[in-house]
Formats: sequence, C-alpha cells, structure tokens
Amino acid sequence: MTAILRLLMPLLLPALSWAESLPLPIGQTQTLPGPYMHVWEDPDGQADFVDVRALPDAAWQAVARRDASFGYSGSTYWLRLDVHNPHNRSLGWVLLIGNPLLDQLDAYGLDGKRIYRSGDQRPFDWRWVEHRQLVLPLDLESGEQQRIWLRMQTDGSANLSASLMTRDAFDHQEQRSLLLQGLFFGALIAMLIYNLSIFCITRDRNYLWYSLFVASFSLYQFIQLGFALQWLWPNALTWQQLSFPLSSALATLFGIHFTYGVLELDKAAKPYRWVANTLKVCAWLVLGMALFGPYAPALIGSFVLVVACAIAAFIITLLRWRGGYAAARLFALGWFVLIAASLASILTGTGLLPYSLLTLHAQQIGGLIEMTVFSIALASRIRHVQEAERLAQAKLIDQERRLRTEQTKHLELQTQISENLEHRVQERTATLQDTLQQLSNANMRLAELNRRDGLTGLFNRQTLSEELARACARAERSRQSLAVLMLDLDHFKQVNDRYGHLAGDACLRHAAQRIQQRLRSSDLLARFGGEEFAALLDNTDLTGALDLAEQLREDLAQTPCLYQQQSIALSLSIGLHAGVPSDPGCGEQWLELADRALYRAKASGRNLVVSYEANAFNDA
Ligand code: GH3
Ligand code: MG
Ligand code: MG
Repeated sequence: MTAILRLLMPLLLPALSWAESLPLPIGQTQTLPGPYMHVWEDPDGQADFVDVRALPDAAWQAVARRDASFGYSGSTYWLRLDVHNPHNRSLGWVLLIGNPLLDQLDAYGLDGKRIYRSGDQRPFDWRWVEHRQLVLPLDLESGEQQRIWLRMQTDGSANLSASLMTRDAFDHQEQRSLLLQGLFFGALIAMLIYNLSIFCITRDRNYLWYSLFVASFSLYQFIQLGFALQWLWPNALTWQQLSFPLSSALATLFGIHFTYGVLELDKAAKPYRWVANTLKVCAWLVLGMALFGPYAPALIGSFVLVVACAIAAFIITLLRWRGGYAAARLFALGWFVLIAASLASILTGTGLLPYSLLTLHAQQIGGLIEMTVFSIALASRIRHVQEAERLAQAKLIDQERRLRTEQTKHLELQTQISENLEHRVQERTATLQDTLQQLSNANMRLAELNRRDGLTGLFNRQTLSEELARACARAERSRQSLAVLMLDLDHFKQVNDRYGHLAGDACLRHAAQRIQQRLRSSDLLARFGGEEFAALLDNTDLTGALDLAEQLREDLAQTPCLYQQQSIALSLSIGLHAGVPSDPGCGEQWLELADRALYRAKASGRNLVVSYEANAFNDA
C-alpha cells in the first residue's frame, strides 16, 4: 500500500492541498515549488530564524503564485517549504533560485546546522555552488521529509523564480542554458563589432550610438542574468547594485540618441525634438539617481523610462513613417518588439504576468530580435543614403551639363555679338575715314578757294602777299634773281561803259587766261584788284622779265576778247622790278616799285612795258 501511495504521490500531490509536502521530482522534470510554499511577510526585516520558527501555522499564508513573486515592496519575506523524497534512493536535488538580483537570500534547514547565505549583496564566494544564479543543494534520503525556510530580502523585484530538479536535470539544463546564453551574448558582440566597424568606416554617428546602445544593453543583460557578479565584480557589491539601473538608463540614453539621429529628428518638426530632448533629460536624471540616489526608485525610474522611451520611439517612428520616411518602417517593428519584450519582462518582475521561460527571457529574445531588425534597418538606411547621394550626384551632373550648354551658347552669342560689333565698327570706321577724307578734301578745296579769286580763278591778293614774302626770302637766301610784274588793263572803264559789266568780266577772265598760259608752272599769277594783276617770277632776271612782259603785252594786244559775237580789243600796261633781293622782307616794297613802273607805263601812253630802275626813277 505504501509502495503504491509512493508511486501515486507525484500524480496526486498537485490535486491535494498546498499545505502538503512537495515530493522531489525525478528524471528531467523540474517542479515550480510556489504552490507548496507558505509565506510570512516581515515588513521591518527584524525577525530572526528563531522568531520565525516559533510562528504559529496560522501566521503563514499559502503562496498564491507559482513563481513566488511579490513585486517591489521592500519587505522581507520568509518562505516555508516542505519537501520529501518519495523515491527509494537519494538522487541529490537542487533548489534553483532563478532571480540572481535578490539582495539577500538565506536558507535554513538545507544541511544540518549550516545556513546558506547568498544574494547579490553578499560576496560571491559565500555561495555553496559557484553559479550565476542561487543554487541550493538538497540531499534527502529515501522517504525523508524536510522543511526548508527561505529568507528573501531585496530592494528590487521580490521574485523568487524558484524551481526544483535533480542534480542531473540541473546539469543538463545548465548546459543547454549556457549554450543559449553564449549564443545570445555572441550575437550581441557580433552586432557590436559589426556596427562599430561600420562607424569606423563611415563615421556616421548613428552607428556609434547604436553600438553604445548594444553595449549597454548587453551589460544590462549580463548583470540581470547574474554573469556580471560572477565574472566581472564578485566582491563589488555597491557597484553591482547601482550598475543594473545604470546600464538600463545608459541603454535608454543611447537608444534616444540613436533614434534621434537615425530618424533625422533634427530636420523634423519641433514637437519631435521637444519629446526627444525631454526624454534625454529624464535619462540623465535616472543616470544621476542610479549613481547617487536610492536603489529602488532608480530601478523603477529606469523601467518607467525604458517603457516611456520605447513607446515614444514607436509613435515617433510611426509618424515619421507616415511622413514619408521609408526606413522608419523597420525601426517601428524593432521598437514594437522591444516594447512588448520590456513590458513582458517588467510585468513579470512586478508579478502581474506569470513566470514562464518565455516571460523570463522575453527581454533577451525581444532584444535580440529588435537588434537584428535595427541592424537590417541601418543597412537599408545605408542604401537609402547611397540612393539619395546617387540622385543628388546625378542631379548635380545634369545641372553641370546644362550649365555647360548654357555657357557654350553664351560664348557663341558673345562671339557672334563681338563679330557683329567688329564688323559694324569696321564699317563705321571706314565710313568715318571716308567722311574724314571728304571733309579734308573739302577743307583743302575750301583752303584753295580761299587762296583764289572768284572771277578769274587766279590767286587772290592775300595769297600773293604770302607767296611774295616766301619768294623774296627764298631768292635772298639762294642769291637768285626774282621778278615782280604789275599788269593793268588799259581804259577798262570804257570797256565796261561800252559793252557792259558782264562783257567786262568776260574780258577780265580772257586776259587772266592769256597771261596765265604764257607763264611757267613755277610762276605765280594773282588778281591784285579790279582790272590789275601781279606776277611773281622765280629765278628770273631783269632781261628775262622784260622779255616775258613784252610777250604778254603783245599777246593780249593781238588777241581780242570774244564776247557775244563781239570782238573787244584789250591792251596791257606792265610795270616790273627784277633782281636779287638784299632783304628777305622785300615783298611789299618790290610790289610798290613795280607799281611805280606801271604808273610810268600808263603815263607814257599805255600798252607799254616799263621796268623800275632806281637811277632812272630818282632822276625822274
Ligand atoms: P587806265 O588806263 O588809266 O587804267 O584807265 P582805266 O579806265 O582802266 O582805269 P580806272 O582806274 O579809271 O578804271 C578801272 C575800271 O575797271 C573801273 C571799273 O569799272 C573797272 N573794273 C574794275 N573791276 C572790274 C570788274 O571786276 N569787272 C568789270 N566789268 N569791270 C571792272
Ligand atoms: Mg586800267
Ligand atoms: Mg586800274
């Protein structure tokens, strides 16, 4: 009967009252001892084992939850558990306390008089078994029953997360667990190295923020799973306590920086930046609290911050996605996973969610998924940035091409304009030169006209004076003879009176022409005034001058002027003076002398040639 009962006991026990003793499991099964436990809450934490042991049964309450979770209260909890070995041999068992962050956990009744003392506010080497979690060995002989008392005190989550199993089952589970944890941290380290490398290559700060985020998240997990106290700081108890909220706040802070950068919130509307900056300030506050403040508020603050940031990041990401920022889709997914995982983890810690492998590792699994998603999102962001750069470059090239075309057109136009301009300038210059030439010709003609007499075309009195002065100076210099002739038509008044003034003019022209044609080209003939002419003969001595004058007189006398079928007889009286001048300014004086000779010719009867000879005239 007893043997049958022993066999049936494991099956029957869960159906029986919780007050019953817990049969130790066999094989690979593990039992959650929560329902078999009784709890007595000691708010002051003053009671000792003797007091607790003396408590009446009525003081103890059954533990309602399988994971023996009491939330964040700060009280000390005494737990009582009855176990017995229903098997016919001793297998060696382990009571595993899954929450390594309990400040203090003491166990009475495990091993004779020895008291098991552990927790993360106790040096690591106090533990009976070297393990990141709290491992309490149990050895019961076949049929033996034992009562175990646990004293749990913590400023964090009073969550025992206890399970009972054989040593073999524990070893087996431990191997699997270490493999999984190794994979988990390995993945995180790979992600960290990958993103740090990308930061080193691209110098894109978002990768640095993300790497720091991964690093602090990894540290947070390393602490939470008990590895940090075991391997990093087994005796640094104060640091162990504050490192947990600190790493959480750091992860949040870097997460905010990362989200801020990757969603380009600096370019987004003001409310986005306002929310992000407020969260940053909160993260710094929590950091300060973790470093200098009391533990429990810092821890709760860090959890609230994580949830607030994850929700804010999720909403901002969604809004950015709707605002046309394509890369935000994956980030939104990542944040959603993290929110769900963090909520699950925190709710399990406060006792609102039941303990299970999934909820225990929710944050780990969620974190891993989230980080993988973020890595993909970052990679897709690189592509996005590259695409944007490519587009910008194409646009730039296009702009440059258009600019070049414009420039070429501009140059062509400029060349055309300057060619036209040059052509027109040439045209204008030619016209101008032509005009200038015409003007100069006109001026020359005008100057020539100014030198001439209008009626006869001979040089005028003014020109005669100028040329006479020059001829005198020349002759004086070269010691050559110069002759000056004064010629006057005889009784010309009568011609006018008889034939009219027009006939007189024609006679004047006729006389001028006759005289001119007998002179050399070097000689100069001028109309002196009225019907008087004067001639300058270069290089001509008195004999030559008399000879020429005689020819002139004869010629006109024999050649009458023909005017309107009338022959008008004309005659000339000529007075002359010739010789080598002794004074270069002799001009006017020589004219005067020739005129005096002319006067003599008139007086002597007209149609005569008379030369001025000083002696003869003085005599006269
Ligand atoms: P003489 O032999 O003394 O020189 O007598 P003359 O009549 O030629 O001299 P006079 O000095 O008395 O008169 C000159 C005349 O010449 C008067 C004028 O009618 C005429 N005469 C002067 N200039 C011109 C002219 O340009 N045209 C015409 N038709 N007659 C002129
Ligand atoms: Mg006269
Ligand atoms: Mg006269």
